[in-house]
Amino acid sequence: MSYKVKFVDPVKNYNLIKDEIDNAYFEVMSKGDLILRGQLNSFENNLAEFVGTKYAVGVNSGYDALHLSVICAGLGPGDEVIVPAHTFVASVSAIVNAGATPVLVDVADDSNIDLDQIEDVITDKTRGIMPVHLNGLICDMECVMDIAERHNLMVIEDACQTLGGMFKGKRAGSWGLTGCWSFYPFKILGGYGDGGAITTNDKDVALLASRLRYNGEDRESGEYCGHGYTCLLDNLQAAFLDVKLKHLPDWIIRRRQIAGMYHAGLANVGDLSLPICDNPDVHHIYQNYVVRTRQREEMFDFLTENGVETLVHWRKPFYHHEALGLEDKGFPVTEAISNEVISLPLNVEMSDDEVEYVIDTVKKFFIK
Ligand SMILES: *Cc1c(COP(=O)(O)O)cnc(C)c1O
Repeated sequence: MSYKVKFVDPVKNYNLIKDEIDNAYFEVMSKGDLILRGQLNSFENNLAEFVGTKYAVGVNSGYDALHLSVICAGLGPGDEVIVPAHTFVASVSAIVNAGATPVLVDVADDSNIDLDQIEDVITDKTRGIMPVHLNGLICDMECVMDIAERHNLMVIEDACQTLGGMFKGKRAGSWGLTGCWSFYPFKILGGYGDGGAITTNDKDVALLASRLRYNGEDRESGEYCGHGYTCLLDNLQAAFLDVKLKHLPDWIIRRRQIAGMYHAGLANVGDLSLPICDNPDVHHIYQNYVVRTRQREEMFDFLTENGVETLVHWRKPFYHHEALGLEDKGFPVTEAISNEVISLPLNVEMSDDEVEYVIDTVKKFFIK
């Protein structure tokens, strides 16, 4: 299938910044700087500065950032960790693979964890909470931190979809013990393969994470401080991400502009509901432009036939996948979202004409 408007277009994006990316490549390749070198350091410093934390530790994926964070928070067997029922499976797998027990909570209509239901599931075993900032929309972190303080919970932010998002001017990923990032190609800061990072203000967490990502080794003494993993962010990937991070502030402005075009162009169309965020405390970065309709499958097919690539996150909630062994306690909002959501293309490579084409095609679907 060749699309008129792709969901993301890595080739177009590369051509926007080709000279800078090519220079970064030649710099790394001509020096043979492959593992734990200057480019990784530089990217970590720039990422920490952007997020507003003291430290950043590059790892191999968003999943690894979450998994190492759960371990660094000291959460393991016997501990319950609260996590939304509507998220990417990796949030939950990170908790399970660290030996802890995920406790699912339904989301609210904004697709983030329902703050009013969190305290209902707190038991004497609850030791952590993993708020997920979905689609570019940060949770009300003042409320999450307040609950966490009152119940003495570790907070691990799954911020993989919300790099640059803010609540009351404070960035996602700077509120909890750690913020977890993914540089999977479809993310707002997408690499050319897998990548991730942890941000934190805690020196011990930063040190432990930097050891765990590299076999548990203390790089100064060569001593193994525990059984670790191999999940470094590659130096070459870090060099590319460092280039892209410089463009991120402008790219966020453009994303918000495209979202504004969608808001205006798709208002009052059929039964479509739009991700309009009018809370002045929230800075939405529109990682995804997720609309809802009861005719989701028909709309998906119509847009595909007309050359518009869309994605559905997710048709089947992860807790319905039997092999994961998770209990479906009944999450009505997650179920409704799974039946109704569809994500329209929103990326910095798109032209205004392409945005208009998507708007026109969606309207045509509802008029026909
Ligand atoms: C992408 C994503 C992850 C996992 O990131 P990977 O880099 O693919 O491992 C985790 N949580 C959320 C919410 C994500 O969107």
